[in-house]
Amino acid sequence: MKFDLVCSIGLSKSAEDLQGELASFIEKLGIEAKIDFSINQNEILLNIVSEERRSHQIVLQLYKQLARFFGKHKIGVRSLSLKEYNIEFEIEKEPLKELSIPFAELEIKNKKVKMRISEKNEEFLRQGYIDRMIRLVKEKIEKQYYEGKKEYWQLIWQSKEKKHAWNKDPSEEMQKLGWIKLLGKGKWFFFPPAAAIMRAMEEIAIKEVVLPLGFKEIIQPMHVSFDTWIKTGHLEGMPGEIYYICEPKSREIEDWEKFVDLLKITRKVDENELIKNLKFPKEGVCYAQCPNIYSALAGKTIAEEDLPLLLFDRSTPSDRYEAGGKHGIERVDEFHRIEIVYIGTKEQLTEIVEKLIERYRYVFDKILDLEWRMARVTPFYLQQAGLIAEEENEIKGTIDFEAYLPYRGDRSKEWLEIQNVSIVGEKYIKAFNIKTQRSQLWSGCSGIGLERWMTAFLAQKGLEYDQWPSSFKKYLPRLPEMPKFL
Ligand code: ATP
Ligand code: ZN
Ligand code: MG
Repeated sequence: MKFDLVCSIGLSKSAEDLQGELASFIEKLGIEAKIDFSINQNEILLNIVSEERRSHQIVLQLYKQLARFFGKHKIGVRSLSLKEYNIEFEIEKEPLKELSIPFAELEIKNKKVKMRISEKNEEFLRQGYIDRMIRLVKEKIEKQYYEGKKEYWQLIWQSKEKKHAWNKDPSEEMQKLGWIKLLGKGKWFFFPPAAAIMRAMEEIAIKEVVLPLGFKEIIQPMHVSFDTWIKTGHLEGMPGEIYYICEPKSREIEDWEKFVDLLKITRKVDENELIKNLKFPKEGVCYAQCPNIYSALAGKTIAEEDLPLLLFDRSTPSDRYEAGGKHGIERVDEFHRIEIVYIGTKEQLTEIVEKLIERYRYVFDKILDLEWRMARVTPFYLQQAGLIAEEENEIKGTIDFEAYLPYRGDRSKEWLEIQNVSIVGEKYIKAFNIKTQRSQLWSGCSGIGLERWMTAFLAQKGLEYDQWPSSFKKYLPRLPEMPKFL
């Protein structure tokens, strides 16, 4: 590595006569880097070349010392700015294609990156941008290698093959019966029969899984702030799947007058007039329910005796822009989940996950009577970091629960993820600074997709109430009738 930095330091008056004295002052500091400088009236040009420590860190340390030095000579140190910075570092693999990052020019050859930054202010040096830029280059190269690769997937368990009631697409059939109606892109209206089935699914999850394991309900806002998503990583992970929220600039009717007038005349929304009245978004609609739960716990110290902390939310739907991937009620832009969050020691979480799996198994086998399976999946970033081998023995990671969809045919591949169980380790605990007295905390979550449970059940069992297993009918003693429309 090589860090060759040229900075400019502004002084309150000329210091040209201090050249020699300054040289010996810097010498005595014993900094392990090659430091050259020139004084031109009230500006010092400083060049720091270092192989080990990063010059942008050295300069901040030096800046403090210079303030002390010039203070003694009644000269104020006014400003620090980056003139030019040439950084060279090694990478493990050659990039597969060209790449760029903001704020720098890159030249990559023979596993060596030359990064050139010029003309930046003091904040740029102080806010950690440069280290993150180096990391970003490495990350983008890594990513080129796993792009387009399949997610790691390993079967853990699979139920027996079952005979299914039919092989139709339940969403299509429900639409024909009028039970569900599309309202806008990927958002469904559930009429009473469909709503009752979803609520039955919810009740099963709550009464058979969530409450018996001791989870306590919380209620949260549907809006999630950018700050929260920066901490969880959602904003960099899936910015293209988020529904963004804009506040109005004002609620005064006068400010909206033109918009309303245009609407009254044209019966259409004038988009330019609308945008003029909106603020820039600072939050989005809930994508998954766990981020707001972590945000509510930020900075807290959980009493040791209250561990594991077990919470769940069913108050807010989740919205995701699925674009072209939408299908029926199984892949929608707005869905209903129960999400449970568990925080505790590694041992406690291992136990919770075991119990969860046992309860889910009971529901899928004994109540919904599904053909289903469990698989361990590993996100790409973990795959890439070579963590799979460890992961197999480790409890960290995600287990997906999938159900077979007869209407899609091929049993070897037509399975739908209906929910998952994850243990994420310290990631969110650290990001939100959540502590307990002595133990080291881990956390995890499990999202129960109610539309997915419903799709799986109806795809395998059909739409005939009489044909459904009695274990399920206990939760839905009567299917409400559809209103008659003429
Ligand atoms: P997929 O790979 O199917 O897109 P995901 O990995 O994005 O799923 P997670 O973020 O892990 O899903 O969310 C957990 C659960 O939320 C899923 O198991 C599923 O039950 C539900 N879910 C996610 N996206 C949708 C969607 N678009 N429509 C309905 N349910 C969904
Ligand atoms: Zn979650
Ligand atoms: Mg998805």
